[in-house]
Amino acid sequence: MSKREREKESIGLMIGIYCRGNHHTDKVLCEDCRELLVYAEQRLSACPFAAKPACRDCTIHCYSPDRRKAIQAVMRYAGPRMLLHAPLAALGHLVRKKKGKLKAAGKKSPA
Ligand SMILES: [Zn+2]
Repeated sequence: MSKREREKESIGLMIGIYCRGNHHTDKVLCEDCRELLVYAEQRLSACPFAAKPACRDCTIHCYSPDRRKAIQAVMRYAGPRMLLHAPLAALGHLVRKKKGKLKAAGKKSPA
């Protein structure tokens, strides 16, 4: 899995956690969150950096103000919870420097 794909997976997980927690959905995202996820994936795909910087350190700020606010809420909510829901993904997100090391453990964690 490429780094970019892993980014997308993390975003998907975080939006999933956020949606379940805030919109009381189950498994499927509500329409707003699904839209946000599609948007986030598009932004990721369009990111010109080989190694995407953390969004808050990024110089481009490619999200529109509305979406930025939405995704920030998602990250604030889901960030800490990632450790509970998807420790491997969270680890991969936080400790990105140790690339490769986590690959063997990269299988999907149970939802
Ligand atoms: Zn939602």
